[in-house]
Amino acid sequence: MNYKDVELILNQLDFKPKKHLGQNFLTSRNIIDKIIKVSDISREDTILEVGPGIGALTKPLIEKAKKVYAVEIDPILSEYLSEKFSVHDNIEIINDDILRIDIPSHNKVVSNLPYKITGPILEKLFFKATAPQGILTIEKSIANRFFLSGNYKDFSRISIGLNAFMNPVVKYSIPRNSFYPIPKIDLALVKIIPKENLNQMLLNEESVQYFLGFIAGIMPYKNKNLVNALYLSFKVTRDSYYTKEKILNILQKENFENKKLFNYEIEKFIELSRIFHS
Ligand code: SAM
Repeated sequence: MNYKDVELILNQLDFKPKKHLGQNFLTSRNIIDKIIKVSDISREDTILEVGPGIGALTKPLIEKAKKVYAVEIDPILSEYLSEKFSVHDNIEIINDDILRIDIPSHNKVVSNLPYKITGPILEKLFFKATAPQGILTIEKSIANRFFLSGNYKDFSRISIGLNAFMNPVVKYSIPRNSFYPIPKIDLALVKIIPKENLNQMLLNEESVQYFLGFIAGIMPYKNKNLVNALYLSFKVTRDSYYTKEKILNILQKENFENKKLFNYEIEKFIELSRIFHS
C-alpha cells in the first residue's frame, strides 16, 4: 500500500477520513514492512488488529498468520474489508468498538491504534496477567513514557500500568508523512512483551482493578512525599480511616521511606497497593 493506492481506494469509496475516529491511513511501504518485520509473525500466531482501516497491515498479516481478528468500528471500512478479503478463510472482520466487545483469544496485537483512545485500549488489552505481545503504532510522547529507565518524573498512570505488566523492548520513530491525512502528532512504533514473573498482586482481576485505581488515585500527587500523596488520594475517595499518622505507621512497619512519589520504582507501587489492599 502506498500513497496512490490509499488515494485510489478512498476515492472509490467516496470516503473522507474521520478525525474523531483517528483515521490516518498508512501510505508508506517501508513502514508497513518494518511493522511486519518487528511483529515476527509465524503460522502459529493468532493476531488481533485494532482498526484495520483499509487493510494496509491486514493483508500482510493474513499472509503470515494462522488467524487474524480485525476489529473496525467504521461500517463503511468494515464492509470494504469484508469484500476485499472474502477469498481468505483465516480472517474475521468484526464491525464493532474494540472497547465494547469480548475479544477473541489471540497471542499478538499488531495495530496502528486510533490515537485518541490509546490509553483505554492499552488498559483493556495489556493490563492483565495473561497479556499478548503488542506491536503498536502510538503517539510518540506516550511511547517515550513507556521507557522510564530511571526517570520517574515523567511517569503517568498509563506508563506505570504498562510497565507493571509488560516489558517495552523496541521503539522507532515514524515520520508523520507516512500517513494520509498527515497527523498533527508525532508517532512511534513500539514492541511490548508480557513480563514473565508478575507480582502476585497482579494475578487476579479484582486486585488488578485495585492496583489501577490506587495508581490513578496517587498519580496527581507525584510531586508530594509518599505520606501526603496517600493521604490526599484517600481523602478524595472519602476514606477517612487513613489519617496521616496511620499511613506513617503502616509505611514505617513496612520499611518504606517517606520520599517524593516520583522516586519510587514500579515494583514499589505494586507493593504499596498490595499493602493498602490488604
Ligand atoms: N490500520 C490502518 C492503517 O494503518 O492504515 C488504519 C489505522 S487508523 C490510525 C485507526 C483505525 O481505527 C481507523 O480505521 C478507525 O476507523 C479505527 N477505529 C477508531 N476507533 C475505533 C474503535 N473504538 N474500535 C475499533 N476501531 C476503531
